[in-house]
Amino acid sequence: MTKPCILCVAITGSLPTKANNPAVPITVSEQVDSTHEAFQAGATIVHAHVRNDDQTPSSDPDKFAALKEGIEKHCPGMIVQFSTGGRSGAGRTRGGMLSLRPDMASLSVGSNNFPTRVYENPPDLVDWLAGEMLVHDVKPEIEAFDLSHILKAKAMADKGQLAGTPYIQFVMGVKNAMPVDRDVFDYYIQTVHRLFGKDAPWCAAGIGQHQLTLNEWAIAAGGHARTGLEDNVRLDRDRLAPSNAALVRRAAEICARHDRPVATVEQARDILGLRPATLVKGQAA
Ligand SMILES: [Zn+2]
Repeated sequence: MTKPCILCVAITGSLPTKANNPAVPITVSEQVDSTHEAFQAGATIVHAHVRNDDQTPSSDPDKFAALKEGIEKHCPGMIVQFSTGGRSGAGRTRGGMLSLRPDMASLSVGSNNFPTRVYENPPDLVDWLAGEMLVHDVKPEIEAFDLSHILKAKAMADKGQLAGTPYIQFVMGVKNAMPVDRDVFDYYIQTVHRLFGKDAPWCAAGIGQHQLTLNEWAIAAGGHARTGLEDNVRLDRDRLAPSNAALVRRAAEICARHDRPVATVEQARDILGLRPATLVKGQAA
């Protein structure tokens, strides 16, 4: 199989702190440096949350703006994806940065349990976030924590709430949500193909020790892969991951084993139906 594989790096998330792994980038400047290193290792999408100085999650549009500017300057053409999911319960402030027009944003279309709480995505908020993404030309990445979320994306696409072919990410291994289950994974792929067509791109993310498993499964099955310190702070049982880039390099090695070239920025944008890199504002020469 020679289909290029898009590598997404989820650099920070809303949970891990320096206490879990000192390499987790917290400040915008740390985030830009970590993203740049991951970009050089082959990542073409950066999935980003922002943090307050005390490491707690933030929705501050100014921080998102500074991050976007830094990434566009140092990582030309890289696809910037903001998280709208990191602060469950925060309502519409979760989408307050969409007017900055990142290339993409994550979109959770249903609720489910997380390790210690409910991950709340009420229907009116989902509709509002999807509407803001349409207005600001932001492509959603649908976070499928459950099979029903893939079918919900189809219903939203049919109603004109999502532009283009939805890009579905299967998330497995979150405690109290969908476990890492090969039969379910295969059925997810089958469902994406049935609803959105054989060529519809999809990706997968595994949490904690399952990151490596989901990288392997997705890359071998022709999907795209997400890695990064948001989902997993360890290289293996004994070692912390030294950087986001180290996790990207690990995913790139899996690609090499499966004869999947790591997608370039141009290839990734083409596969996802995004504007070409040359038209991205603020891009370095
Ligand atoms: Zn995230």
